[in-house]
Amino acid sequence: MGRKTAIRRRLREWFRRHARPLPWRASPDPYRVWVSEIMLQQTRVAAVVPYYERFLRLFPDVESLARAPEEQLLAAWSGLGYYSRARNLQRAARMIVEQGGFPEDYDGWRRLPGVGDYTAAAVASIVFSRPHAVADGNVLRVLARLGNDHGDLREARVRKRLSALAQELLDPRRPGEHNQAMMELGAVVCLPRNPRCGACPVAALCAAHKAGTQEALPVRSPGRAPQRIESTLLVIERGPEILLRVRPAHEGRLAGFWELPDAAELPEARLVGICGEFRHAITHHRYRVRVVRAQLEQEPPDGLRWVPKSRLGDLPLTTTAKKALALAEKPPQHAGRGSVEE
Ligand code: SF4
Repeated sequence: MGRKTAIRRRLREWFRRHARPLPWRASPDPYRVWVSEIMLQQTRVAAVVPYYERFLRLFPDVESLARAPEEQLLAAWSGLGYYSRARNLQRAARMIVEQGGFPEDYDGWRRLPGVGDYTAAAVASIVFSRPHAVADGNVLRVLARLGNDHGDLREARVRKRLSALAQELLDPRRPGEHNQAMMELGAVVCLPRNPRCGACPVAALCAAHKAGTQEALPVRSPGRAPQRIESTLLVIERGPEILLRVRPAHEGRLAGFWELPDAAELPEARLVGICGEFRHAITHHRYRVRVVRAQLEQEPPDGLRWVPKSRLGDLPLTTTAKKALALAEKPPQHAGRGSVEE
């Protein structure tokens, strides 16, 4: 048996015994698989599962997603981040409804908003058995190790070479199962740090394992240095209301989301207590966010609104607003008076 056939067979047998029972694996339904792949684009499996189940209860099919009010859609996505994914999902749902059904091949999926090479290959192979290999970060890592490839993953030609290898290895008779097995291996065995080679079904065929170089692979040269940003968010209440701002339409991916006012936009607010601080990372930005309770004696400027606190659960809140409000519910660390800029 050739190496390629042996890798396919070992992967398949391992996946059938060890695949995690994830909710989107229960049935190869295009809607369920597509939604899961979009949610998994930038979010870990463990974080996605509860959102996925709630999302499917709210929008059980493509028609209900297509007609959902934007505020309800964003509230259901709130906490997953990268909100352009939710908006693209709905735009794509409307196209699917208009076309009268789901595309069945890679090119049809690729034309939908928010669907890149990876997602098109995943859905077309898992649901429609089309022979397209997936090559996300997990899979590229597995491939770099299997072939002991020391190319830099930041280089397009290296990613292209590994993607071609993924296509060559793909089992054409069971492309969906093969793709899922590769992704699963990268997610639970061939980990970025401390790969579990002792539990790996393809260890005997892995060139990096043989050479002892698995910890050093894949090679990825350092990217852009993280940008550090500090800010102070204000929790200002007035009886049963809280002061919030909604992001206007021109504010890109977070347009339509609600957030707490920043101290820089309300210099007249008076500090009454410190709630604490938290850190938050988005792409290469590293935020350090301080949260304080404050009072406002005059009417707020344009753009800020008093909102009943009872509505907070229904509004699409930014992740930083959610984290800040959770901190504000804890007992105060300190109370005093002074400007929030102090
Ligand atoms: S043997 Fe180790 S390095 Fe090679 S594919 Fe398996 S887990 Fe990854």
